[in-house]
Amino acid sequence: MFTLLQQAHVISPEDLGLKDILLCGEKIAAIEEKIEIPAGWNIKVIDMEGKTVIPGLIDSHIHLIGGGGEGGPATRTPEVLLSKVTRCGVTTVIGLLGTDGNTRHMESLLAKARGLEDEGLSTFIYAGAYQIPTPTITGSVRSDIILIDKIIGAGEIAVSDHRSAQPTREDLQKLLAEARVGGMLSGKAGIVDFHMGDGTRGLKDIKYVMENTEIPYTQCVPTHVNRNPHLFEEALEWAKAGGYMDITSGVSPASGSAHAVKPSKAIRRAIDSGVPLNRILMSSDGNGSVPVFDEQGNTIGVGVANQKSMFTEIQDAVLEEKISLSDAVQIVSTNVARAYKLKNKGNIIVGFDADLVVLDKNLAIQQVWAKGQLMVENGNPIVFGTFENL
Ligand code: ZN
Repeated sequence: MFTLLQQAHVISPEDLGLKDILLCGEKIAAIEEKIEIPAGWNIKVIDMEGKTVIPGLIDSHIHLIGGGGEGGPATRTPEVLLSKVTRCGVTTVIGLLGTDGNTRHMESLLAKARGLEDEGLSTFIYAGAYQIPTPTITGSVRSDIILIDKIIGAGEIAVSDHRSAQPTREDLQKLLAEARVGGMLSGKAGIVDFHMGDGTRGLKDIKYVMENTEIPYTQCVPTHVNRNPHLFEEALEWAKAGGYMDITSGVSPASGSAHAVKPSKAIRRAIDSGVPLNRILMSSDGNGSVPVFDEQGNTIGVGVANQKSMFTEIQDAVLEEKISLSDAVQIVSTNVARAYKLKNKGNIIVGFDADLVVLDKNLAIQQVWAKGQLMVENGNPIVFGTFENL
């Protein structure tokens, strides 16, 4: 039941220096200079010399039951597997549907989230898909958020994209209002996650709603903001005005998005242009499709985004962009937990969930702990999902 991690360099995300961390079941029980083990206690002790411990990563945009399908049924992307998530340092996920809200269902997403939770992750989901009216379980976004524990907001709602339902400003306004009040009544964030497409409208419609209603900027999170330079510039202004900007780690020139701003460079540019650090978020878009369109909008190829990119971009942010580990880690843990009001997540604090990633001197992942359970050892998963070995 007890595990003692001895003399780890703790980035909580605050740099706490060398500490002992005592885990008790799913929780962090103590963080001290030195923790003495009472005689006769059966405690597993792990030497952390030379290791750095950061909070487990929170991936707030991941297609748990797959997505895609833009190139026909054969291009529907596969479900997420437990070890593919944990090996990337991710211990909490927020799952969602995508383009396909017809052959993918909210009920399946909820069941998948429950399954992954049973397998050791912490999981949440959004109500909805690209389209408006958007799919729900109870018949309304507001009721879904209030009545279903795992549903914490709505998404991903597509705007400025040829695959969207072409929502009007009034549509967006009503959806945001539903999610906001649903969030208030249930003590959740009620955030709307907006899929930003490559269209020229960019953030204009969402911005209009924010400027013409009482709904605060923080009620929504525009994502994929690094997909082209124009949208990225708009997102910088949006974030300086008080909104969140969600960089997609799976969208970069290296992964085939020629016009994208590389995520680690996007973080550097956001910081340099004066965006407050706590307004910058990053998620993977894992298991979503990465369709390639020709100039007429025909699908000419489809790839699948993976979760790995999130940690790789954090490494690049530290090693290439010279962002401190403490700052970089906040973008994928602390900031996300605060934005989405995830209790006991995103910090290494006594009483919080024991979601930890242990890094070596080269910032490579050595261990991953999810709610106190060791999921990854020496960089390799040791716990697998129920049917992973088939
Ligand atoms: Zn999307």
